[in-house]
Amino acid sequence: MARYIGPVCRQCRREGMKLFLKGERCHTAKCAIEKRNFPPGQHGKDRKPKIVGYGLQLREKQKARHYYQLLEGQFRNLFEKASAMKGITGDNMLNMLERRLDNVIYRMGFGTSRAQSRQLVRHGHIAVNGHRVDIPSFQVRPNDAIEIVEGSKKNPTILHALEATAHAPSPNWLEVDRENLKGRVIGQAKREDLVQIQLNEQLIVELYSK
Ligand code: SF4
Repeated sequence: MARYIGPVCRQCRREGMKLFLKGERCHTAKCAIEKRNFPPGQHGKDRKPKIVGYGLQLREKQKARHYYQLLEGQFRNLFEKASAMKGITGDNMLNMLERRLDNVIYRMGFGTSRAQSRQLVRHGHIAVNGHRVDIPSFQVRPNDAIEIVEGSKKNPTILHALEATAHAPSPNWLEVDRENLKGRVIGQAKREDLVQIQLNEQLIVELYSK
């Protein structure tokens, strides 16, 4: 599976906000947004472009795509599926993004970042309803039981992540048993539970609907 392997702090600086892509570092003074909150590039500091219309829509899409660490094709695909579903496309899209297994592992605190959580899924440390699942894009559903597989319960990466995320609240739609390294989806995510950053999903819908 292809993935972005370039510098991620650059993506935060491009959007002018923390996207929390590097785990613990994002909460320290070493965060690039704390140190140099201006766009990347030689002239980033001097340029103050006024973004309107298409530019605004594009930036909103890029922000969501980077936040969830997806490539353009993967993001577009997800959008197509969301728009084919009943209901409001923007809500469906955010819901699908949040219900990805790699995101759920991150939101449960078993990984310090989405990238690390994705690796945990890929390496077979996660089971859904008793079956090992190694597909990061797997969509969890209400009542699904998610757990760290027996042989990985002492994995130092997971134990460290649990310590690092001890004070991070889990969203209301997930029930987390941190002691036993498991959790459950207990309902549908509400709009306010979905993303931790300011995002106008309507602009993304408008961009892809052109
Ligand atoms: Fe880098 Fe994290 Fe700060 Fe973003 S929030 S700039 S990924 S350290």
